[in-house]
Amino acid sequence: MQDFTFSALHREEYFDRLSQEEFDILVIGGGITGAGIALDAVSRGLRVALVEKNDFAWGTSSRSTKLIHGGLRYLKQLEIRLVREVGLERAIVHHNARHVVLPERMLLPIVDGGSLGKMMSSLGLWVYDYLANVEKEERRKMLSKVETEAAEPLLRTDILKAGGLYYEYRTDDARLTIETLKTAVAHGAVALNYCQATAFNFAEDADNGGISRTTVRDTVSQKDYIIKSKYVVNAAGPWVDTLRAIDTEGVQGKRLHLTKGVHIVVPRERLNLAQSAYFDVLPDKRMCFAIPRLGVTYIGTTDTNYTGDVNTPQAEYADVAYILEATNAMFPDVKLTANDVISTWAGLRPLVHQDGKSPSELSRKDEIFVSTSGLISIAGGKLTGYRKMAERVVDLVCKKMKRSRICLTANLRVAGADFDSSEEFEQFLNLRAQSLKDLGIAPAAVIALGQRYGSNLDWIIEKAYALSAETESRADAFLLAEIEYAVAFEMVQTLSDFLIRRTGRLYFERPAISQNYPHIAELMAKTLAWSPSQKAEYLQDFEAEFARVMAWQEIEK
Ligand code: FAD
Repeated sequence: MQDFTFSALHREEYFDRLSQEEFDILVIGGGITGAGIALDAVSRGLRVALVEKNDFAWGTSSRSTKLIHGGLRYLKQLEIRLVREVGLERAIVHHNARHVVLPERMLLPIVDGGSLGKMMSSLGLWVYDYLANVEKEERRKMLSKVETEAAEPLLRTDILKAGGLYYEYRTDDARLTIETLKTAVAHGAVALNYCQATAFNFAEDADNGGISRTTVRDTVSQKDYIIKSKYVVNAAGPWVDTLRAIDTEGVQGKRLHLTKGVHIVVPRERLNLAQSAYFDVLPDKRMCFAIPRLGVTYIGTTDTNYTGDVNTPQAEYADVAYILEATNAMFPDVKLTANDVISTWAGLRPLVHQDGKSPSELSRKDEIFVSTSGLISIAGGKLTGYRKMAERVVDLVCKKMKRSRICLTANLRVAGADFDSSEEFEQFLNLRAQSLKDLGIAPAAVIALGQRYGSNLDWIIEKAYALSAETESRADAFLLAEIEYAVAFEMVQTLSDFLIRRTGRLYFERPAISQNYPHIAELMAKTLAWSPSQKAEYLQDFEAEFARVMAWQEIEK
C-alpha cells in the first residue's frame, strides 16, 4: 500500500521545494508524456520537477479512446516499425500497470466495401500478432460469417463476409497518467498541478553546467516562482508550439498539426455488444471503436483538422451525427439517435505536420525538437508508446549531461500495480468483491474501484470501515474514503479533478452524478478545507464541464 503523500494540502511545501532546489530536468506538461518522462528520469537518479498548468491529464491524456493498442490501422499505412514498437510496448505497459491496463477482446467484422478484405485482415492480424509478440492465448482467431454473427448478433448481416477476434488493451488514460506520476513522486520527483510555465531564461551553456530559470505561476494563489534546472523538457501536447513560441527561437522548422477526435457515450442497454468492436465507417474508409465499459458503451472517434481554441475542444452536432450514422450502419437494429447520447468527450491529437496529408494519414510517430536556446520539445506519439518516448527524451538528456544511465522503466510497476499476473489481480478483485458483498456493496462496484486503484483499494476499504460509523450508508463511507484517498495521494484540488480525471464519472456515470455532485462537493469542501468562494468556484467550474459535454446539441457546424 502507498506510503507517501501527494496532496493539495501540502502545495506550499512543494512550492518551497520547487523554488529552492536545483533540478536536472524540469518537465512542462502533466499528461502521459510528461508523467512518463518524469518517472523515467527520476528512476535513473536525476532530480526532476514537473509542472502542469491545469490538472494532471487535463489535456489529451484524459480524452483518448483509452486503448493501449498496437495500432492495426498503422499496418494498413505500412508503418511497420511503429506497429512493432507500440505492439511490444503494449505488453510492457500491461505488465507494469495490470490494474489499469486490461486485456480487451475485440471483434473486427469484415464487410463488403470495408477497408480490409478477408485475406488481408487475416494476414494483417497475423502480422500484428507476430510484430507485437502476442501471447498464445491472445492471438487472433479468424471467424466464418456464421461464427461472426454468433459472436455479435447485433451486426449487420447483408454485407458481412467474416470476422476476426483479437486482443487489445483497455485503459483509463487519466488514471494511467496519475499512477505513473504518483510513482515518479514516490521516487522523489516534485510534481505540481495548477502551475503554469510562463517564461524561460535559458542558460548559455546548459551542457557544461549552466542553469536555466523558468518562471511558473501557481494559478491557485497567483504567485510566481522561478525553477532552476539544467534542462527544460516541453511535453505540453497540443500546447507544444505555444511554449515554443515563448522561447527566443519561436516556432521554426517542424510544427504541430492538431486534429480533433470525439467520442460519444450511450447506455449499455442501447448498444449491448458482446465484446468491443473495431468496425468500418463505410463511406470514408475510416474505422471506429465501440467499447462497452461499466454501464455504458462508448464509440469513436472522429479525426478532423482543428484550428479552434486549444483549451476548449468539444463535440459538435456533426461529430455526434457522424458517429451515430457509422454505428447504425454497422448495427442497424440498434437505431441509435441523438437522444441516446448521455455524454461525450473531445480531444486534440498533437501530431507533427506533414504537407498534403489528411488528418487520418498523418503519422502518429513522435519527434523530438531541440531549439538553439536548449528547449527540448516532444510531439506526436501515442498513449501506448509513452514509455518509449520518455526513454528517448531522457537518453538525450543523459547524453547531454555526459552521464550513462540505463533506462529502468521496462520493469518498473506503477503505483497500485502490485500483481505478478492477471490471475493474481483477478483473484485480488474477487476476494474483495466477495467479502464486501456480505456488507451490501455490489461486486461490480468493488471491481470498478479495484480497476481504478489496484492494490491501493485496500487503503480505501480500511478507511471506509473506519468511516462507516459517521456516514449514513456503506456506499457513502466508500465515497468519502475514495475522496480522502484522492486528496491524500492523488493531488486532487477541485471537484472536476475528482469527477473527471481521477474517476471518469463525468463520462461514464453522468446521469448518476447529476444527482449527487453537490453532495460530493460538500464532502470535498470539508476534506480540503475550501473557503466558501473556492467551493462556489469549483462547483461552477464543474457545472460548466457538465454542460459542455452535451453542448453539441446546440452547436450546428
Ligand atoms: P497532453 O495529455 O495534452 O498533456 C499536455 C499537458 O501540458 C496538458 O495537460 C496541458 O495542460 C499542459 N500544459 C500546456 N501548457 C503548459 C504550460 N505552459 N505549463 C504547464 N503545463 C502546460 N493513443 C493511444 O495510444 N491509444 C488510444 O486509444 C488513443 N486514442 C486517442 C483518441 C483521441 C480522440 C485523441 C485525441 C488521441 C488519442 N491517442 C491515443 C493519442 C494520445 O491520447 C496522445 O498521444 C497523448 O494523450 C498525448 O499526451 P501528452 O502528454 O503529450 O499531451
